[in-house]
Amino acid sequence: MKGKICVTGIKAEARHGVYDFEAETPHPFIADIVLYREDMPSDDQLSSTVDYEKAVNIAYRVLTEERVNLIETLAYRAAFELASTFGCDADVIVHKPEAPLSRSVFDVSVTACAKYKKVCLSLGSNMGERAKYLDDAVQYIKQAAGNKDVRVSSYMKSAPYGGVADGEFLNACLIMHTLKSPRELLSLCAEAEKRAGRVRKERWGNRTLDIDIIFYGDEIIDEADLTVPHIDMCNREFVLAPLCEIAPGFVHPVYGKTAKQLLEELRGRRE
Ligand code: ADP
Ligand code: MG
Repeated sequence: MKGKICVTGIKAEARHGVYDFEAETPHPFIADIVLYREDMPSDDQLSSTVDYEKAVNIAYRVLTEERVNLIETLAYRAAFELASTFGCDADVIVHKPEAPLSRSVFDVSVTACAKYKKVCLSLGSNMGERAKYLDDAVQYIKQAAGNKDVRVSSYMKSAPYGGVADGEFLNACLIMHTLKSPRELLSLCAEAEKRAGRVRKERWGNRTLDIDIIFYGDEIIDEADLTVPHIDMCNREFVLAPLCEIAPGFVHPVYGKTAKQLLEELRGRRE
C-alpha cells in the first residue's frame, strides 16, 4: 500500500533573506515535510518505517546551517536531502511568516518537490582499458548524490559506428532512479567522461568514454544541446540490445514502443 508521512511545523530561528537587516536579527522559518512511501509497513515494526527524528533533524539543519537569500534554496536543499537519505520522493514547504513585505500577510511559503525519475544511460568505450572505464563510470554514477537503484547490463562488444572511430567498442546500458534534472544528469555524464580523460576531437570519433542520455522518464526534450530520447537510439543495436537485457519494457515516449519492439524492428530492417 502506498502512503505518505508528514511532519509539520518544524520551527527554527535564522537570518535568511536578501536584505541586510534580515542578517542582523533572527526571524522564524517553519518547514513541513512529506515523505512518499511506496510500501506502508503493516508489521508494526519501528524498523520498517522512516526515522522521524532523523527527518526532522535534516530539515532543521538545512534551515539553520547556512544563511541564504531565498526560502526556495532551503526548500530545494531539504527536499533533495530527505529524498536521497530515505530513498523516496519528498516535498518540503518552507514558510517565512515574517517575510518583509509592504503589506501585512499571514504567511509566505514555497514548496519543493524532489521526485525520482527512471532514466536510462548508454555507455561506450573504444580506447585503452575499456572495461575499466565503464566500471569506473558506473561507480562514479552510483556514488553521485540523488541517484539510486542503479542497474547495469553486461558489457557487449560492437563494431565502430558512424565511420570515424576505428577500434571495437565495449557498450553497456545503465538504468536508475535519479533526482537530478536532465541538465544535471548531462553534466554528470560529461564529468564522468572528463574523469576518463576523454578528449573531444570529432563526433563519433575514438573515445575512452561516451555516456549518452537515452531516456529521461517519459519526457521529450528537444533543445540545441540535448535531445531526449536520444535521437539515434532506434538505429543502434549497441544501445537497444543492452537496454533490452535490463529493461525490455521501457517505452519510447515518441513512438510508444518498448525497447524490445524497437530492437526487433531494427533487426528486421537489417534482414
Ligand atoms: P556523440 O555522443 O554523438 O558521439 P558527443 O558525446 O561528443 O558525441 O556529444 C556531443 C553533444 O551531444 C554533447 O555536447 C551534448 O550536449 C549533445 N547531446 C544531445 N543530446 C544528448 C543526449 N541525449 N545525451 C548526451 N549528449 C547529448
Ligand atoms: Mg555522447
